[in-house]
Amino acid sequence: MKIYELTLEQRIKYLLENEYIDQRQADSLLKRQTISKDLADSLSENQIGSFSLPYGFATDFLVNGKDYLVPMTIEEPSVIAAASNGAKRIKHSGGFKTFPSKRIVYGQIVLEKITDIDFEQLEQNSSEIFNFAQNAHPSLLRRGGGIVSLKFNRYDEFTEIELGIDTVDAMGANMVNTILEKTAHKIVELTNDDVLCSILSNSGQGQVITVEARVDFAQLGTKDMTGEQVANRIVQLSSFAQKSVKRAITHNKGIMNGIDAVLLATGNDFRAQEAAAHSFAFESGQYQPFSEWHIEDAQLVGTLKMPIELGSVGGAIRALPMAQLSLAIMKIKDSQELQSVVGAVGLANNLSAIRALVTTGIQTGHMGLQSKSLAVSAGAVGSEIHAVAEKLNQTKDYTIKNAENILKELRE
Ligand code: NDP
Repeated sequence: MKIYELTLEQRIKYLLENEYIDQRQADSLLKRQTISKDLADSLSENQIGSFSLPYGFATDFLVNGKDYLVPMTIEEPSVIAAASNGAKRIKHSGGFKTFPSKRIVYGQIVLEKITDIDFEQLEQNSSEIFNFAQNAHPSLLRRGGGIVSLKFNRYDEFTEIELGIDTVDAMGANMVNTILEKTAHKIVELTNDDVLCSILSNSGQGQVITVEARVDFAQLGTKDMTGEQVANRIVQLSSFAQKSVKRAITHNKGIMNGIDAVLLATGNDFRAQEAAAHSFAFESGQYQPFSEWHIEDAQLVGTLKMPIELGSVGGAIRALPMAQLSLAIMKIKDSQELQSVVGAVGLANNLSAIRALVTTGIQTGHMGLQSKSLAVSAGAVGSEIHAVAEKLNQTKDYTIKNAENILKELRE
Protein backbone atom coordinates (compact mmCIF):
# COMPACT_ATOMS: atom_id res chain seq x y z
CA MET A 1 0.00 0.00 0.00
CA LYS A 2 1.27 3.49 -0.84
CA ILE A 3 1.93 5.87 2.07
CA TYR A 4 -0.70 8.35 0.91
CA GLU A 5 -3.30 5.58 0.99
CA LEU A 6 -2.65 4.77 4.68
CA THR A 7 -4.63 6.21 7.56
CA LEU A 8 -2.94 8.69 9.89
CA GLU A 9 -2.52 5.95 12.53
CA GLN A 10 -0.99 3.57 9.96
CA ARG A 11 1.46 6.28 8.86
CA ILE A 12 2.60 6.81 12.45
CA LYS A 13 2.95 3.02 12.83
CA TYR A 14 5.03 2.97 9.65
CA LEU A 15 7.39 5.61 11.09
CA LEU A 16 7.64 3.64 14.34
CA GLU A 17 8.23 0.25 12.71
CA ASN A 18 10.87 1.68 10.41
CA GLU A 19 12.63 3.39 13.36
CA TYR A 20 12.12 6.96 12.19
CA ILE A 21 10.50 7.68 15.57
CA ASP A 22 10.33 5.99 18.99
CA GLN A 23 7.23 4.99 20.99
CA ARG A 24 7.20 8.26 22.97
CA GLN A 25 7.25 10.30 19.75
CA ALA A 26 4.55 8.07 18.22
CA ASP A 27 2.37 8.60 21.31
CA SER A 28 2.77 12.36 21.18
CA LEU A 29 1.82 12.39 17.48
CA LEU A 30 -1.26 10.26 18.20
CA LYS A 31 -2.30 12.58 21.05
CA ARG A 32 -1.85 15.55 18.67
CA GLN A 33 -0.09 17.49 21.40
CA THR A 34 0.31 21.20 20.84
CA ILE A 35 2.96 23.30 22.56
CA SER A 36 2.48 23.95 26.27
CA LYS A 37 1.13 27.26 27.56
CA ASP A 38 4.48 27.98 29.21
CA LEU A 39 6.46 27.29 26.05
CA ALA A 40 4.12 29.42 23.93
CA ASP A 41 4.41 32.21 26.52
CA SER A 42 8.19 32.02 26.38
CA LEU A 43 8.28 32.13 22.58
CA SER A 44 5.89 34.99 21.88
CA GLU A 45 4.04 37.89 23.46
CA ASN A 46 0.30 38.38 24.12
CA GLN A 47 -0.15 34.67 23.58
CA ILE A 48 -3.72 33.31 23.63
CA GLY A 49 -3.31 29.90 22.01
CA SER A 50 -1.31 27.99 19.44
CA PHE A 51 -2.05 27.92 15.72
CA SER A 52 -1.90 24.49 14.09
CA LEU A 53 -1.01 23.60 10.54
CA PRO A 54 -0.95 20.14 8.95
CA TYR A 55 2.30 18.24 9.54
CA GLY A 56 3.23 15.43 7.18
CA PHE A 57 6.22 14.00 5.38
CA ALA A 58 7.46 13.75 1.83
CA THR A 59 8.87 10.44 0.64
CA ASP A 60 11.54 9.12 -1.73
CA PHE A 61 14.29 11.66 -1.09
CA LEU A 62 17.72 10.25 -1.91
CA VAL A 63 20.21 12.99 -1.10
CA ASN A 64 23.96 12.38 -1.34
CA GLY A 65 23.30 8.64 -1.16
CA LYS A 66 21.15 8.77 2.02
CA ASP A 67 17.40 8.08 2.05
CA TYR A 68 15.14 10.58 3.81
CA LEU A 69 11.53 11.02 4.76
CA VAL A 70 11.18 14.81 4.96
CA PRO A 71 8.76 16.36 7.48
CA MET A 72 6.88 19.36 6.13
CA THR A 73 4.40 21.80 7.67
CA ILE A 74 2.11 23.29 5.05
CA GLU A 75 -1.51 24.25 4.47
CA GLU A 76 -1.37 24.06 0.63
CA PRO A 77 -2.72 20.63 -0.37
CA SER A 78 -0.41 19.74 -3.26
CA VAL A 79 3.02 20.61 -1.81
CA ILE A 80 3.93 17.34 -0.05
CA ALA A 81 2.54 15.30 -2.95
CA ALA A 82 4.56 17.38 -5.43
CA ALA A 83 7.78 17.09 -3.38
CA SER A 84 7.39 13.30 -3.18
CA ASN A 85 6.52 13.05 -6.86
CA GLY A 86 9.58 15.06 -7.95
CA ALA A 87 11.86 13.23 -5.51
CA LYS A 88 10.75 9.83 -6.81
CA ARG A 89 11.55 10.71 -10.42
CA ILE A 90 14.98 11.96 -9.35
CA LYS A 91 15.63 8.97 -7.06
CA HIS A 92 15.16 6.59 -10.00
CA SER A 93 17.97 8.44 -11.79
CA GLY A 94 20.47 8.47 -8.89
CA GLY A 95 19.14 11.08 -6.46
CA PHE A 96 20.24 14.58 -5.51
CA LYS A 97 23.85 15.69 -5.22
CA THR A 98 24.45 18.77 -3.11
CA PHE A 99 27.28 21.19 -2.50
CA PRO A 100 26.35 22.91 0.77
CA SER A 101 28.13 25.95 2.13
CA LYS A 102 29.66 26.95 5.43
CA ARG A 103 27.36 29.10 7.55
CA ILE A 104 28.87 32.55 7.18
CA VAL A 105 26.55 35.23 8.54
CA TYR A 106 27.41 38.86 7.86
CA GLY A 107 26.85 41.59 10.42
CA GLN A 108 27.08 45.36 10.22
CA ILE A 109 28.18 47.98 12.72
CA VAL A 110 27.16 51.34 11.30
CA LEU A 111 28.87 54.64 12.18
CA GLU A 112 27.68 58.07 11.08
CA LYS A 113 29.63 61.09 9.88
CA ILE A 114 33.13 60.04 10.81
CA THR A 115 36.11 61.99 9.54
CA ASP A 116 38.79 60.60 7.22
CA ILE A 117 41.17 60.62 10.16
CA ASP A 118 38.73 58.59 12.26
CA PHE A 119 38.31 56.14 9.37
CA GLU A 120 42.08 55.68 9.15
CA GLN A 121 42.20 55.17 12.89
CA LEU A 122 39.55 52.46 12.57
CA GLU A 123 41.56 50.68 9.88
CA GLN A 124 44.70 50.93 11.99
CA ASN A 125 42.83 49.22 14.83
CA SER A 126 41.55 46.42 12.60
CA SER A 127 43.58 43.61 14.29
CA GLU A 128 42.42 44.72 17.71
CA ILE A 129 38.79 44.88 16.55
CA PHE A 130 39.10 41.46 14.87
CA ASN A 131 40.62 39.84 17.97
CA PHE A 132 38.06 41.44 20.26
CA ALA A 133 35.16 40.20 18.10
CA GLN A 134 36.77 36.76 17.90
CA ASN A 135 36.74 36.48 21.69
CA ALA A 136 33.26 37.95 22.14
CA HIS A 137 31.64 34.50 21.82
CA PRO A 138 34.22 31.98 23.08
CA SER A 139 31.96 28.90 22.70
CA LEU A 140 31.68 29.56 18.96
CA LEU A 141 35.45 29.37 18.63
CA ARG A 142 35.50 26.11 20.57
CA ARG A 143 32.96 24.70 18.11
CA GLY A 144 35.22 25.56 15.15
CA GLY A 145 33.43 28.76 14.12
CA GLY A 146 34.12 32.43 14.71
CA ILE A 147 35.08 35.55 12.78
CA VAL A 148 36.26 34.87 9.23
CA SER A 149 36.36 38.38 7.77
CA LEU A 150 36.44 42.05 8.72
CA LYS A 151 35.91 44.86 6.22
CA PHE A 152 35.50 48.63 6.45
CA ASN A 153 33.21 50.19 3.85
CA ARG A 154 32.12 53.79 3.32
CA TYR A 155 28.73 54.86 1.91
CA ASP A 156 28.56 58.69 1.73
CA GLU A 157 28.33 59.84 5.35
CA PHE A 158 28.08 56.26 6.68
CA THR A 159 30.85 53.88 7.62
CA GLU A 160 30.14 50.19 7.89
CA ILE A 161 32.23 47.66 9.75
CA GLU A 162 31.27 44.33 8.24
CA LEU A 163 32.04 41.12 10.10
CA GLY A 164 31.70 37.67 8.49
CA ILE A 165 31.00 35.07 11.16
CA ASP A 166 30.97 31.26 10.86
CA THR A 167 28.09 30.23 13.14
CA VAL A 168 28.69 26.46 12.62
CA ASP A 169 25.27 24.79 13.03
CA ALA A 170 23.23 27.73 14.34
CA MET A 171 21.25 30.12 12.14
CA GLY A 172 23.24 32.58 14.18
CA ALA A 173 21.15 35.77 14.33
CA ASN A 174 21.32 36.10 18.12
CA MET A 175 24.95 35.02 18.32
CA VAL A 176 25.99 37.48 15.64
CA ASN A 177 24.00 40.33 17.18
CA THR A 178 25.68 39.64 20.55
CA ILE A 179 29.13 39.72 18.96
CA LEU A 180 28.29 42.92 17.04
CA GLU A 181 26.95 44.79 20.05
CA LYS A 182 29.97 43.88 22.18
CA THR A 183 32.31 44.87 19.37
CA ALA A 184 30.45 48.15 18.85
CA HIS A 185 31.16 49.10 22.49
CA LYS A 186 34.83 48.32 21.91
CA ILE A 187 34.85 50.57 18.84
CA VAL A 188 33.34 53.43 20.81
CA GLU A 189 36.07 52.91 23.41
CA LEU A 190 38.81 52.90 20.78
CA THR A 191 37.64 55.76 18.58
CA ASN A 192 34.97 57.69 20.45
CA ASP A 193 32.76 57.46 17.36
CA ASP A 194 28.99 57.24 17.59
CA VAL A 195 27.52 53.87 16.60
CA LEU A 196 24.18 54.21 14.76
CA CYS A 197 23.33 50.50 14.95
CA SER A 198 24.73 46.97 15.08
CA ILE A 199 22.77 44.15 13.41
CA LEU A 200 23.23 41.04 11.33
CA SER A 201 22.42 41.13 7.64
CA ASN A 202 20.01 38.54 6.29
CA SER A 203 22.00 38.51 3.08
CA GLY A 204 22.53 34.83 2.37
CA GLN A 205 25.80 35.43 0.48
CA GLY A 206 27.70 33.21 2.89
CA GLN A 207 25.13 30.41 2.74
CA VAL A 208 24.68 29.61 -0.93
CA ILE A 209 24.05 25.97 -1.75
CA THR A 210 24.05 24.16 -5.09
CA VAL A 211 21.83 21.13 -5.64
CA GLU A 212 21.97 18.99 -8.77
CA ALA A 213 19.57 16.37 -10.05
CA ARG A 214 19.50 14.27 -13.19
CA VAL A 215 16.32 12.71 -14.51
CA ASP A 216 16.14 9.96 -17.12
CA PHE A 217 13.69 10.73 -19.91
CA ALA A 218 11.87 7.51 -19.00
CA GLN A 219 10.82 9.17 -15.73
CA LEU A 220 9.14 12.10 -17.43
CA GLY A 221 6.70 10.82 -20.04
CA THR A 222 2.91 11.12 -19.89
CA LYS A 223 0.28 9.22 -21.81
CA ASP A 224 0.34 11.91 -24.51
CA MET A 225 4.04 12.86 -24.58
CA THR A 226 7.36 11.01 -24.58
CA GLY A 227 9.82 11.69 -21.77
CA GLU A 228 12.12 13.46 -24.22
CA GLN A 229 9.32 15.78 -25.34
CA VAL A 230 8.49 16.60 -21.73
CA ALA A 231 12.19 17.22 -20.97
CA ASN A 232 12.47 19.62 -23.91
CA ARG A 233 9.37 21.51 -22.80
CA ILE A 234 10.75 21.77 -19.24
CA VAL A 235 13.99 23.22 -20.65
CA GLN A 236 11.97 25.74 -22.67
CA LEU A 237 9.97 26.84 -19.63
CA SER A 238 13.14 27.10 -17.57
CA SER A 239 14.63 29.32 -20.25
CA PHE A 240 11.49 31.48 -20.33
CA ALA A 241 11.79 32.02 -16.56
CA GLN A 242 15.27 33.48 -17.12
CA LYS A 243 13.76 36.06 -19.48
CA SER A 244 10.40 36.82 -17.85
CA VAL A 245 10.47 38.26 -14.33
CA LYS A 246 6.78 37.49 -13.83
CA ARG A 247 7.39 33.82 -14.64
CA ALA A 248 10.61 33.69 -12.53
CA ILE A 249 8.71 34.93 -9.47
CA THR A 250 6.20 32.07 -9.70
CA HIS A 251 8.94 29.57 -10.61
CA ASN A 252 10.63 30.59 -7.35
CA LYS A 253 7.38 30.52 -5.37
CA GLY A 254 7.06 26.84 -6.29
CA ILE A 255 10.56 26.25 -4.93
CA MET A 256 9.80 28.19 -1.73
CA ASN A 257 6.66 26.03 -1.22
CA GLY A 258 8.90 23.12 -0.34
CA ILE A 259 11.67 25.07 1.35
CA ASP A 260 9.41 27.02 3.72
CA ALA A 261 7.46 23.88 4.63
CA VAL A 262 10.63 22.13 5.84
CA LEU A 263 11.85 25.28 7.59
CA LEU A 264 8.54 25.51 9.46
CA ALA A 265 8.66 21.83 10.38
CA THR A 266 12.16 22.27 11.80
CA GLY A 267 11.42 25.45 13.79
CA ASN A 268 13.52 27.66 11.52
CA ASP A 269 13.06 31.35 10.77
CA PHE A 270 11.36 31.28 7.35
CA ARG A 271 11.25 35.11 7.20
CA ALA A 272 15.04 35.19 7.22
CA GLN A 273 15.08 32.63 4.42
CA GLU A 274 12.59 34.59 2.34
CA ALA A 275 14.62 37.79 2.71
CA ALA A 276 17.86 36.01 1.76
CA ALA A 277 16.38 34.11 -1.16
CA HIS A 278 14.67 37.00 -2.91
CA SER A 279 17.61 39.38 -2.59
CA PHE A 280 19.78 36.63 -4.17
CA ALA A 281 17.28 36.26 -7.02
CA PHE A 282 17.78 39.94 -7.80
CA GLU A 283 21.57 39.87 -7.48
CA SER A 284 22.27 40.24 -11.21
CA GLY A 285 19.94 43.26 -11.50
CA GLN A 286 17.18 41.19 -13.10
CA TYR A 287 15.14 38.89 -10.87
CA GLN A 288 16.21 35.34 -11.78
CA PRO A 289 14.92 31.81 -11.14
CA PHE A 290 16.73 29.83 -8.43
CA SER A 291 16.97 26.80 -10.73
CA GLU A 292 17.63 26.01 -14.35
CA TRP A 293 17.06 22.86 -16.41
CA HIS A 294 18.94 21.65 -19.45
CA ILE A 295 19.57 18.41 -21.35
CA GLU A 296 22.88 16.59 -21.08
CA ASP A 297 23.74 13.01 -22.14
CA ALA A 298 20.09 12.14 -22.81
CA GLN A 299 19.01 13.22 -19.32
CA LEU A 300 17.20 16.26 -17.97
CA VAL A 301 19.61 18.01 -15.59
CA GLY A 302 18.44 20.51 -12.97
CA THR A 303 20.61 22.81 -10.87
CA LEU A 304 19.33 24.88 -7.99
CA LYS A 305 21.57 27.62 -6.61
CA MET A 306 20.41 29.85 -3.79
CA PRO A 307 21.10 30.79 -0.19
CA ILE A 308 19.44 28.63 2.43
CA GLU A 309 19.50 30.31 5.82
CA LEU A 310 18.80 27.89 8.65
CA GLY A 311 20.15 26.17 11.72
CA SER A 312 19.99 22.65 13.08
CA VAL A 313 20.39 23.99 16.65
CA GLY A 314 19.50 27.17 18.54
CA GLY A 315 16.58 29.59 18.42
CA ALA A 316 13.18 27.92 18.69
CA ILE A 317 14.55 24.64 17.31
CA ARG A 318 15.70 23.36 20.69
CA ALA A 319 12.42 24.39 22.40
CA LEU A 320 9.81 23.13 19.93
CA PRO A 321 9.16 19.39 20.34
CA MET A 322 7.87 19.10 16.75
CA ALA A 323 11.08 20.69 15.42
CA GLN A 324 13.11 18.15 17.38
CA LEU A 325 10.88 15.39 16.02
CA SER A 326 11.46 16.57 12.44
CA LEU A 327 15.24 16.56 12.87
CA ALA A 328 15.01 13.09 14.44
CA ILE A 329 12.91 11.71 11.55
CA MET A 330 15.58 12.91 9.10
CA LYS A 331 18.44 11.87 11.44
CA ILE A 332 20.06 15.24 10.79
CA LYS A 333 23.64 15.54 12.07
CA ASP A 334 24.45 19.15 11.27
CA SER A 335 23.23 22.29 9.52
CA GLN A 336 24.95 21.41 6.22
CA GLU A 337 22.98 18.17 6.04
CA LEU A 338 19.72 20.01 6.76
CA GLN A 339 20.61 22.63 4.15
CA SER A 340 21.16 19.83 1.61
CA VAL A 341 17.78 18.22 2.29
CA VAL A 342 15.97 21.57 2.18
CA GLY A 343 17.63 22.44 -1.14
CA ALA A 344 16.68 19.02 -2.55
CA VAL A 345 13.05 19.59 -1.53
CA GLY A 346 13.07 22.96 -3.34
CA LEU A 347 14.34 21.32 -6.54
CA ALA A 348 11.88 18.40 -6.26
CA ASN A 349 8.93 20.78 -5.91
CA ASN A 350 10.25 22.76 -8.85
CA LEU A 351 10.47 19.66 -11.09
CA SER A 352 6.94 18.59 -10.23
CA ALA A 353 5.49 22.03 -10.83
CA ILE A 354 7.14 22.65 -14.18
CA ARG A 355 6.49 19.11 -15.42
CA ALA A 356 2.79 19.58 -14.61
CA LEU A 357 2.77 23.01 -16.26
CA VAL A 358 4.20 21.78 -19.56
CA THR A 359 1.99 18.66 -19.70
CA THR A 360 -1.45 18.46 -18.10
CA GLY A 361 -1.43 21.89 -16.47
CA ILE A 362 -1.31 22.47 -12.75
CA GLN A 363 -5.03 22.51 -11.97
CA THR A 364 -5.79 18.81 -12.51
CA GLY A 365 -3.59 17.71 -9.64
CA HIS A 366 -4.09 20.84 -7.57
CA MET A 367 -7.86 20.89 -7.58
CA GLY A 368 -8.02 17.11 -7.12
CA LEU A 369 -6.23 17.62 -3.80
CA GLN A 370 -7.97 20.89 -3.00
CA SER A 371 -11.32 19.09 -3.22
CA LYS A 372 -10.89 17.59 0.27
CA SER A 373 -10.38 20.98 1.89
CA LEU A 374 -13.37 22.35 -0.06
CA ALA A 375 -15.44 19.46 1.28
CA VAL A 376 -14.41 20.28 4.86
CA SER A 377 -15.14 23.99 4.29
CA ALA A 378 -18.63 23.01 3.09
CA GLY A 379 -19.21 21.20 6.40
CA ALA A 380 -18.40 17.57 5.51
CA VAL A 381 -17.17 15.37 8.35
CA GLY A 382 -15.68 11.86 8.55
CA SER A 383 -16.50 9.66 5.56
CA GLU A 384 -18.48 12.51 3.97
CA ILE A 385 -15.19 14.27 3.15
CA HIS A 386 -14.04 11.56 0.78
CA ALA A 387 -17.49 11.23 -0.80
CA VAL A 388 -17.87 14.97 -1.42
CA ALA A 389 -14.28 15.26 -2.73
CA GLU A 390 -14.86 12.38 -5.16
CA LYS A 391 -18.00 14.03 -6.49
CA LEU A 392 -16.21 17.38 -6.82
CA ASN A 393 -13.48 15.66 -8.84
CA GLN A 394 -16.10 14.08 -11.11
CA THR A 395 -17.99 17.31 -11.74
CA LYS A 396 -14.75 19.36 -11.91
CA ASP A 397 -16.75 22.29 -10.54
CA TYR A 398 -14.50 23.21 -7.62
CA THR A 399 -16.69 25.79 -5.91
CA ILE A 400 -17.89 25.95 -2.33
CA LYS A 401 -21.48 26.17 -3.62
CA ASN A 402 -21.08 22.89 -5.53
CA ALA A 403 -19.48 21.25 -2.47
CA GLU A 404 -22.41 22.39 -0.31
CA ASN A 405 -24.95 21.06 -2.83
CA ILE A 406 -23.17 17.71 -3.06
CA LEU A 407 -23.12 17.46 0.74
CA LYS A 408 -26.80 18.35 0.94
CA GLU A 409 -27.69 15.64 -1.59
CA LEU A 410 -25.53 13.14 0.25
CA ARG A 411 -27.32 13.82 3.53
CA GLU A 412 -30.81 13.64 2.06
P1 NDP B 1 20.71 31.05 19.73
O1 NDP B 1 20.71 32.34 20.42
O2 NDP B 1 19.89 29.95 20.34
O3 NDP B 1 22.23 30.58 19.58
C1 NDP B 1 22.60 29.33 19.12
C2 NDP B 1 22.82 28.37 20.30
O4 NDP B 1 23.11 27.09 19.83
C3 NDP B 1 23.96 28.82 21.17
O5 NDP B 1 23.47 28.83 22.48
C4 NDP B 1 24.98 27.70 21.03
O6 NDP B 1 25.57 27.35 22.24
C5 NDP B 1 24.11 26.53 20.64
N1 NDP B 1 24.83 25.51 19.89
C6 NDP B 1 24.84 24.20 20.23
N2 NDP B 1 25.51 23.48 19.34
C7 NDP B 1 25.94 24.35 18.38
C8 NDP B 1 26.66 24.18 17.17
N3 NDP B 1 27.06 22.97 16.77
N4 NDP B 1 26.90 25.26 16.41
C9 NDP B 1 26.47 26.49 16.80
N5 NDP B 1 25.80 26.71 17.95
C10 NDP B 1 25.51 25.65 18.73
O7 NDP B 1 20.17 31.15 18.24
P2 NDP B 1 20.80 31.85 16.95
O8 NDP B 1 21.96 32.71 17.28
O9 NDP B 1 20.99 30.77 15.93
O10 NDP B 1 19.62 32.82 16.47
C11 NDP B 1 18.48 32.27 15.86
C12 NDP B 1 17.24 33.01 16.33
O11 NDP B 1 17.39 34.41 16.17
C13 NDP B 1 16.02 32.62 15.54
O12 NDP B 1 14.99 32.29 16.45
C14 NDP B 1 15.66 33.91 14.78
O13 NDP B 1 14.28 33.99 14.56
C15 NDP B 1 16.17 34.97 15.71
N6 NDP B 1 16.47 36.29 15.15
C16 NDP B 1 16.51 36.55 13.81
C17 NDP B 1 16.84 37.81 13.32
C18 NDP B 1 16.97 38.01 11.85
O14 NDP B 1 16.92 37.08 11.08
N7 NDP B 1 17.14 39.26 11.35
C19 NDP B 1 17.12 38.92 14.24
C20 NDP B 1 17.14 38.50 15.64
C21 NDP B 1 16.81 37.25 16.06
P3 NDP B 1 26.92 28.04 22.73
O15 NDP B 1 26.53 29.41 23.13
O16 NDP B 1 27.33 27.18 23.85
O17 NDP B 1 27.87 28.02 21.59
